[in-house]
Amino acid sequence: MVYTGRFAPSPTGPLHFGSLLAALASYLDARAHHGRWLVRIEDLDTPRVVKGASDRILKTLEQFGFEWHGPVIYQSDRLSIYNDALTELVSHQLAYPCSCSRQKIRQRTGSNRYDGYCRVHPPKHRTGCAIRSICAEDYSFDDLIQGPQTANHPIEDFVIFRRDGFFAYQLAVTVDDAAQQINHIVRGSDLLDSTPKQIHLQQQLGYPQPIYAHIPVATNLQGQKLSKQTLAPALDSHQTRQQIIRALRFLGQQPVAELSDCRLDECLAWAVEHWDINAIPKRMGIILESN
Ligand code: GLU
Repeated sequence: MVYTGRFAPSPTGPLHFGSLLAALASYLDARAHHGRWLVRIEDLDTPRVVKGASDRILKTLEQFGFEWHGPVIYQSDRLSIYNDALTELVSHQLAYPCSCSRQKIRQRTGSNRYDGYCRVHPPKHRTGCAIRSICAEDYSFDDLIQGPQTANHPIEDFVIFRRDGFFAYQLAVTVDDAAQQINHIVRGSDLLDSTPKQIHLQQQLGYPQPIYAHIPVATNLQGQKLSKQTLAPALDSHQTRQQIIRALRFLGQQPVAELSDCRLDECLAWAVEHWDINAIPKRMGIILESN
């Protein structure tokens, strides 16, 4: 089976150095395996989508020398496919409607962890309800970078369709990874907690399980992940090679000094040839030194 990887940005703002790490690591791993690398725009969470951000993200990827296979897919075009998966789960009684607000859950449980209330007390009306997936077992998996992952309690019944009418990230990403035949997922460690949920849905929907590798995320001095919320600056398209070299160092690769004088395509070709996923630090986060 041909290696198929992907980069799946949410168009909530421009790409920043943290996004470059995920794009680069997934790209180099795919290319080093002579595999395919796809780009998917995760634009389901309409209130958070920033107008023009998708086009800007794709342009930035091009400016950084990334080449992807096939057309870019947009999750907003695929609602009926997510609906089919949701219907299948509900009709097999693997998911159920839930009318609990976050506040109600907190009042009842003293935490944000869902207690399965609506599984036992089904709401009278389905309108305005979320849909939750039924989870009963512990899920463990081996991460190529972070090592064996074992949950010490079953994952909670998590939301796959939101009360505000949107399909949840966990459902859409699982359906799309299977539909696009993604078999290697290289992404930031901030998504490590989502992986058992996605494996759970893969099992319920009869999908194959991809191989996972979660890279450390870049953080500021306070340990917060670089993101729009922590005011990470947009990638500078006039400094592409320098930023790629910086990202390679962050990922534990050892870019040679000569790369500073290479063209961008030569720099990426070097990175593919010397890619070593085992050299990536086995850490969840690393403070990003300023330049
Ligand atoms: N769209 C997600 C994000 O930008 C990434 C999803 C994934 O890689 O699974 O954080």
